[in-house]
Amino acid sequence: MKNRAINFLRGVRELCFPSRCLSCTKQLDESAILFCGDCCGKLNFVNEPLCTCCGRTFIAGENHLCSVCLDKPWFFSRARAVFIYNDVIAKTIHGLKYGGRKECLATFGRLKKEANPCLDLFQPDIILPVPLHAKRLRQRGFNQALLLARVFYTEQKEKIDCDTFIRCLDTSPQTTLRGDERRKNMTNAFSIIDPEKVKDKKIILIDDVFTTGTTVNECSRTLKKAGAHEVQILTLARVREDD
Ligand SMILES: [Zn+2]
Ligand SMILES: [Zn+2]
Repeated sequence: MKNRAINFLRGVRELCFPSRCLSCTKQLDESAILFCGDCCGKLNFVNEPLCTCCGRTFIAGENHLCSVCLDKPWFFSRARAVFIYNDVIAKTIHGLKYGGRKECLATFGRLKKEANPCLDLFQPDIILPVPLHAKRLRQRGFNQALLLARVFYTEQKEKIDCDTFIRCLDTSPQTTLRGDERRKNMTNAFSIIDPEKVKDKKIILIDDVFTTGTTVNECSRTLKKAGAHEVQILTLARVREDD
């Protein structure tokens, strides 16, 4: 009888708090980090040496400005990410965006605290998630960048603003486009409802993945044009490039 009661309670707990690995769905012991040992081992934190500006990682040597940043300055002053983008992160982000599996957020919030390069970012006056177009927001029901902002900045939630900065163009998914097309696709995609809110402000912009940087750069351009003092970027993950 006792066992049946315990099993019943376990079942209920399982329904409410399914402790399965966020990536491969393997059953887990009770743990705050919802990745199994295998997937945890595959998580790859961004580490030094890296580009002091865009956060691109180097195989060896000292921190320095990468060739991309030397060549073409960005509209943001610094970008940092928690993880190198890989299969484990890809599956988890996919589960969040298309399956609504929001239990990954607490895990990501905790792991962000272990990500030392993120300490390079300034204390912001205002925190802006990269906005979704209203149509996509209606389809999905939430903006994953806003949810990430809330777990990355738990103690500064009052600085998070999701009304001032909007996406006015419903752009085609960037993943299907290359270089120049990405830039064209993004140009003038964003706008600011109330420029007073960003004027002379130090802004942290949050997104899920830094791929080529085109999206966050266009966001930063729009914010700087409206008078923002400085923009820095924090993403959950960053695509690794060879350098
Ligand atoms: Zn796993
Ligand atoms: Zn760089």
